[in-house]
Amino acid sequence: GTRPCLLLYSPGESWEWFKALGEVQQQYEIVEASSYHDAMNRSKGNHVLLCGVDERALDIVKHVRSVSKDVFICVYNERACDMPVLRMKLFNELKVNMVSYHPESITCALMRVLRIVQNPGKFDCVRCGAKKLSEDSLCLHEPLYHANDKSIDRMECPICRKTIRGPYAVHLHHKHGPIGRGEEFSGDAQSSHPRLYSFALVVCRNPNTRKYLVVQEFCNSGYWLPGGAVDAGEDIKIAALRETKEEAGLDVELKGILRFEMSPRKEYVRLRVIFYAEPLNEDLPKSIPDFESVGATWISAEELAHSHLRGKEPLRWCNYLENGGSVYPLTLLTRESTKVTLSDPFVPTNEAN
Ligand SMILES: [Zn+2]
Ligand SMILES: [Zn+2]
Repeated sequence: GTRPCLLLYSPGESWEWFKALGEVQQQYEIVEASSYHDAMNRSKGNHVLLCGVDERALDIVKHVRSVSKDVFICVYNERACDMPVLRMKLFNELKVNMVSYHPESITCALMRVLRIVQNPGKFDCVRCGAKKLSEDSLCLHEPLYHANDKSIDRMECPICRKTIRGPYAVHLHHKHGPIGRGEEFSGDAQSSHPRLYSFALVVCRNPNTRKYLVVQEFCNSGYWLPGGAVDAGEDIKIAALRETKEEAGLDVELKGILRFEMSPRKEYVRLRVIFYAEPLNEDLPKSIPDFESVGATWISAEELAHSHLRGKEPLRWCNYLENGGSVYPLTLLTRESTKVTLSDPFVPTNEAN
């Protein structure tokens, strides 16, 4: 296949590592610039510019980019990797494609460029004008060359000719190339995003009587904790209060969190938050059987151990609390835009002990 051209400019860098990369080396036509002027003279017709950094190297980068939009520019420099401002400047002002001080990563990028160049096809890159790319080459090319470029939305896909609804890069990644053909698995493929089902469970203890609130479930299935599925658009804390009211007939105050549970299944993810609560008043638990439950009652730790339960969880949480288990602050659970403050005490408590 074609031997791509690589221009190497290495002020003050040892390039022994690069010269040792036999496999990649052999497949590139490598031109090592002997000076700044030599590099400037050789700025055209390259597939790759691998460049160190000195005062004038950035001029070379700028010049090479101005003569060819589709050259892959990699800056090899330790300082550039450690300085976030310089790194950003290299990408945004000088339009480099990669900043690295990691030989294996550079080898990997060079292998990709090689695959792109050596597998020609009928597509052109809409961003840099790179010509004659195959479907797979375009799929490799887009993130390697343009990951930092502005997202393009609502364009016609050069491969399938469909008008893309979301970002072009996402469409290419999911619908074309080895992933699109189902030959390769993509961890973040759109189809693999699972549904999330959220549940609130409430472990409610009366601090005066040290009794626990349990719901008598349908069909003699035993006692269980108040709780249930979170409705669409509902805050999970509100769901916890609502379910406790519906199933046990009581108004409670959420005092903290006992546990978060995130359980991935094949088709969906279950999220459960186990809250710790205390009753707000001395009202009696619900006694009218209805759609939500047969009724509810207060139960001691001792009685709980010998009762018909729908499952072990009420007993487990009772034992946990009776043995001094921590209750974590409710502020652990919040919304994305909530201000981050130092004032919330993140100290676990179990006041009733
Ligand atoms: Zn391109
Ligand atoms: Zn397409």
